[in-house]
Amino acid sequence: MQIVLLQILLNKICNFTGMESAAINDILKRNQLSVTGSRKKILDIFLTNNGALAHHDIEEKTGEKFDRVTIYRTLQTFVEKGIIHTIPTADNSVLYALCKDECTTGYHHDNHVHFVCDNCNVTYCLDDVVTPEVKLPKTFKPKVIEVLVSGVCGNCG
Ligand SMILES: [Zn+2]
Ligand SMILES: [Zn+2]
Ligand SMILES: [Zn+2]
Repeated sequence: MQIVLLQILLNKICNFTGMESAAINDILKRNQLSVTGSRKKILDIFLTNNGALAHHDIEEKTGEKFDRVTIYRTLQTFVEKGIIHTIPTADNSVLYALCKDECTTGYHHDNHVHFVCDNCNVTYCLDDVVTPEVKLPKTFKPKVIEVLVSGVCGNCG
């Protein structure tokens, strides 16, 4: 009985990681990127994480396997390819989060609101909440509209 349960559990874990690495290879292939250790690992971190990540979060999660420059370059490549997008924060640092499928090289469509939880400090992409239009004086032309809402998230409230 116990062995059977363990086997089911193992199968579940194997299926899960199998799907994940297939997704990772698929994303890299679709973007004409060669599969490297750092790209695989960093994509895996984004796919398994709930919420946006800072450079230092990624550094921590890779377990010092890659140096700062490698992580930085990988993140830059992913941003350029439309795989991840940046989210500005109140303290002028940058967070990164996975894009939806419609982002392409050099063109992002991430017009959603971001939410930062005061309790758990997680920043979420609210993919279904479209950035509201902002009425500006006639002579002002908007380029980027970023909406960052703070409060208590669904997991904490
Ligand atoms: Zn994007
Ligand atoms: Zn929270
Ligand atoms: Zn986002």
